[in-house]
Amino acid sequence: MDMENNFNEADFRAEVRSFVEANLPEAVRGKILRGEKLLKEEYVDWQRKLYDQGWIAPSWPAALGGTGWSLMQRRVFHHELALCCAPETIPFGITMVGPVIYTYGTPAQKERHLPSILKSDVWWCQGFSEPNAGSDLAALGTRADDMGDHYLVNGQKAWTTHGKFADKMFCLARTSKENKRQDGISFLLLDMTAPGVEVRPVATIDEGSSICEVFLKDVKVPKEDLVGEVGKGWSYAKFLLGHERAMIARVGRSRMQLTRAKEMLAQITATTRLPAGKEAVQMRLVEIECRLRALEISELRVLSQHTDKGFDPSMASMLKIEGSEICQQLTELLVDLGGRYSMVYEGRTPSVNIGPDYRPGLMGDHLFNRVATIYGGSNEIQKNIIAKSRLDV
Ligand SMILES: Cc1cc2nc3c(=O)[nH]c(=O)nc-3n(C[C@H](O)[C@H](O)[C@H](O)COP(=O)(O)OP(=O)(O)OC[C@H]3O[C@@H](n4cnc5c(N)ncnc54)[C@H](O)[C@@H]3O)c2cc1C
Repeated sequence: MDMENNFNEADFRAEVRSFVEANLPEAVRGKILRGEKLLKEEYVDWQRKLYDQGWIAPSWPAALGGTGWSLMQRRVFHHELALCCAPETIPFGITMVGPVIYTYGTPAQKERHLPSILKSDVWWCQGFSEPNAGSDLAALGTRADDMGDHYLVNGQKAWTTHGKFADKMFCLARTSKENKRQDGISFLLLDMTAPGVEVRPVATIDEGSSICEVFLKDVKVPKEDLVGEVGKGWSYAKFLLGHERAMIARVGRSRMQLTRAKEMLAQITATTRLPAGKEAVQMRLVEIECRLRALEISELRVLSQHTDKGFDPSMASMLKIEGSEICQQLTELLVDLGGRYSMVYEGRTPSVNIGPDYRPGLMGDHLFNRVATIYGGSNEIQKNIIAKSRLDV
């Protein structure tokens, strides 16, 4: 395993922490801590600070804007940011489409898109899922008809996170009908302001997920916005999903939530007797912490095996399953700890000033995390991927 430690961990942690202290507004930190919704401007402002510092894309090749850090250093960086309650970098540009463009894009695409992704000037959304193509993504019906110098795209995308904020969408569309459904799908970069694009927000239970439906009617996509080879989009999508799944283990965020749960437990038991007893809660904490530590080691292993071709899909799936289940276990525990105060729920932007400091956001975070086992490909589908690759079934 590539565990090289070519940096002084304590110094580096202190450097990251002091950067966050100097640059992250207290109001934003408080929102993250309480699981409240951030505004787009707050994400952009933070991401630009990371960019100015040269820290926005640690996993990219150094020549393209990455940091050149070792895996160990990258891991420490992400964990430290999460522990300091810094916003998570929005993944669609940096984690998802960026690596596809620098790996498979033309020189012109790299020149045009990579700088604006790094600077957060252009926001991306992911147009893969459709009403009849979620788990079974190869069933997608959006068509891109070849019109000579451009494609004419027609169809509907579903569950498009940040659809209403995004300037661009990377999307999968069918350019030909082949016997094998995975063939004939192409990877397109689509302008969200192009005529024929209609975005409709979808209400969600946590009232803060920014999910949309996107309708595409005769949308012109110039040929230069096709990534890689025509009909080979499925391979690029798999490469991208490997990055997405490996990065949604959210180990740092879970570490932060675990610390929060311990602090809440100490605060509550200082004045109150828990009905189930303190030990019962401690047992739940220990169980989660053991699982989280095991996940941290697995995450390192997966990162160390990353090659130019991406992540081993079954390993990325394993991280996704474990990371999402731990996230859910933690938010359930936090809601239980909050007791009756957790029940006061006014959406992801709390306005009622009652109860202890830890109350706001407990329920919103819990409700939002219901989706952790669905997005990025449901956990059942991840188990199918693992079974296929490891058990040869
Ligand atoms: C909050 C949120 C944000 C999302 N953001 C995006 C986004 O930005 N862009 C995007 O493209 N997509 C996005 N998605 C879509 C997400 O990837 C899909 O919801 C997911 O792939 C599941 O598809 P589906 O919802 O159509 O469910 P279905 O495919 O209809 O599945 C329904 C249930 O059946 C199970 N199931 C289906 N097939 C099998 C099988 N073969 N074996 C075992 N079980 C099976 C599933 O696990 C699930 O429990 C988002 C979803 C959510 C909830």
